[in-house]
Amino acid sequence: MVNWSPLPVTVKKRSPWVQVVGHAGNFKTGSDGRLLKRYCECEQQCFLQLMSDSLRPFVPGYYGVTQRDEQDYNLMDDLLADFDSPCIMDCKMGSRTYLEEELRKACESPQPRKDMYEKMIAVDPDAPTEEERAQQAVLKTRYMQWRETLSSTATLGFRIEGIKKSCGTCNTNFKRTKYKDEVIQALEDFVDNNMLILRSYQQRLKELRAVLEKSDFFKAHEVVGSSLLFVHDLTGKAGIWMIDFGKTVPMPPPLNLDHRSPWVEGNREDGYLWGLDNFIDILTNMLPE
Ligand code: ATP
Ligand code: MG
Ligand code: MG
Repeated sequence: MVNWSPLPVTVKKRSPWVQVVGHAGNFKTGSDGRLLKRYCECEQQCFLQLMSDSLRPFVPGYYGVTQRDEQDYNLMDDLLADFDSPCIMDCKMGSRTYLEEELRKACESPQPRKDMYEKMIAVDPDAPTEEERAQQAVLKTRYMQWRETLSSTATLGFRIEGIKKSCGTCNTNFKRTKYKDEVIQALEDFVDNNMLILRSYQQRLKELRAVLEKSDFFKAHEVVGSSLLFVHDLTGKAGIWMIDFGKTVPMPPPLNLDHRSPWVEGNREDGYLWGLDNFIDILTNMLPE
């Protein structure tokens, strides 16, 4: 007797898209493993250039602008689509997360801000100066610069924004994760001490660094508030991509950035490669010889 069993079905299961950080309302899932992000012209310009830059393999594929419910969206690849129950980490790169332009605007109209004072003391009651305490307010520029010193942004040139594990737990409470040891602990937890995954990430970051150092796009842009999205799953598959180009702005030609020099107001250096160097060093130290 022939025992008929159903043919194995190899239809690939697509992971549902999950978001780690950022405004939930900004995204919609599309069909065929694509993702819609609320339109931003700055981001569109970056994507258009990136599609013909050497960085192309390190960014989501871009498919132009599309409309949904009368709202414009940038259409891109969902980077999670080829993973099975992925673990995801969003790391914001650079030693500064506001544009020089934002700082300039804040300087032009220096208003003492009570809301920012409140936010400041909620995090650290000792942070305000005596004068700020008397006014119960801080200037926006002061607040912006103070905020960068809380996390590892100012000291390491990157910070963890959020981690989502495959079991569904999500941690976005890294605003005060500042020191190397704290970062290492978060990374160990993210990869569940799996050294093979860690090794893949280290390799991928080294490849990214080599491409960034040659990229025409990268040398001609101030890259602020952009993240690296780390994704791995139980099969051992791991990848890293650059995302979020809402504050990535072109330099006036022929000016270029090296992304490693310390920032002084006016030079527009963003510390992106300095942060990447630090990240690679940290991973290298975590790995066995
Ligand atoms: P913010 O400026 O506050 O960081 P945002 O609205 O600009 O947020 P992004 O930073 O681009 O949004 O993305 C937010 C989150 O959405 C990321 O942390 C990631 O989890 C997810 N995400 C963004 N782009 C992709 C993508 N192409 N594929 C998969 N997930 C993505
Ligand atoms: Mg972001
Ligand atoms: Mg953004």
